[in-house]
Amino acid sequence: MDFTYDPQNIFARILRGEIPNKTVFENDHALAFHDIAPQAPIHVLVIPKGAYVSLDHFARDASADEHFGFMQAVAEVCRIAGVDAGFRAISNTRAHGRQDVPHYHLHILGGRQLGLMLDDAG
Ligand code: AMP
Repeated sequence: MDFTYDPQNIFARILRGEIPNKTVFENDHALAFHDIAPQAPIHVLVIPKGAYVSLDHFARDASADEHFGFMQAVAEVCRIAGVDAGFRAISNTRAHGRQDVPHYHLHILGGRQLGLMLDDAG
């Protein structure tokens, strides 16, 4: 699998401070911010600070500290957002997964009753 990283992708630019974001939480290894086009009342993106294109890239190559920092950020987002009633975590990956931004990100969606996991009509 070719995990070539494009340093000009929009999340890389956010991490460099070139584009503003509405930060929810940040630590040494991850940044969490509100999605610009929310699909639910709570829609936060968690991204690693390292140059990983996708979930499978991060899973394969990230260090233990990066994994821990990322999951710590997920936990903090869930706490801050208050998703006690439940939520969905999604990581769209490459073409079949309809990934638009080629920097690994986990969508945290909640705040309302969500629909079925897959809607293949579109
Ligand atoms: P995906 O289709 O899984 O790659 O999701 C990319 C997500 O990034 C979409 O939900 C977009 O709304 C979101 N997005 C794109 N640009 C920005 C931005 N500048 N700030 C916050 N979210 C963004």
